[in-house]
Amino acid sequence: MSNPPPASYFEKAVYATSAASLKQCPGDTGAEIAFAGRSNAGKSSALNALTRNSRLARTSKTPGRTQLLNFFELEPGIRLVDLPGYGFARVPDSVKEQWQKLIDQYLRQRQSLRGLVLVMDIRHPLSDFDCMMLDWASACEMPVHILLSKADKLKKMAQGKQLDLVKHALAKRQQNVSVQTFSALKATGVTPLADRLLELLEVVLISGQSQALAGK
Ligand code: GDP
Repeated sequence: MSNPPPASYFEKAVYATSAASLKQCPGDTGAEIAFAGRSNAGKSSALNALTRNSRLARTSKTPGRTQLLNFFELEPGIRLVDLPGYGFARVPDSVKEQWQKLIDQYLRQRQSLRGLVLVMDIRHPLSDFDCMMLDWASACEMPVHILLSKADKLKKMAQGKQLDLVKHALAKRQQNVSVQTFSALKATGVTPLADRLLELLEVVLISGQSQALAGK
């Protein structure tokens, strides 16, 4: 049997739980990847495109769940995590502080976290929020994979220009970070994303079966 396309692994994602604190997160074993981004950057759409499940993001967007960590399981011990979007309009400072505290604790303490996917609108990359997340990841020596989302909004040439610009800015940072263009609308960039995530999760697909190498 030939190897399945890497993205097919992520179609298995099912909603597991939501957490308002580190204590409420699933057991800290195995491996997980967290998705972060400013609100409206296209994070939910990217998760939908990756998992080919439009209901997944709806789960995260359920009112009341937007400020929580939402966990999706791929197989026992292997998870995707949707971090709360940052930058909601009219959010009181107390909520922002709470958000920052939760994310900070999660990023610093979560043993099973293997990498961060940082979603940025290709037209407005490297916002203050994005740079803050990159600094966090750097301090924790956490690999980051950047999605320049909504690539379909730009012509091919302009996409390449934005990609180069971001790569150039990242080269100065000396951290484990990769970057690609992505369009949920056109479903472009799903395969390189899936490849990178499997690498970070240490999941190998062999003859239609996945083998999680991460300690469980
Ligand atoms: P989130 O707040 O980061 O989860 O962002 P969403 O995934 O909800 O997307 C925000 C808006 O951008 C929505 O109106 C989406 O339809 C739109 N959007 C997301 N991804 C794409 C894309 O790849 N192309 C285009 N053209 N629009 C997108």
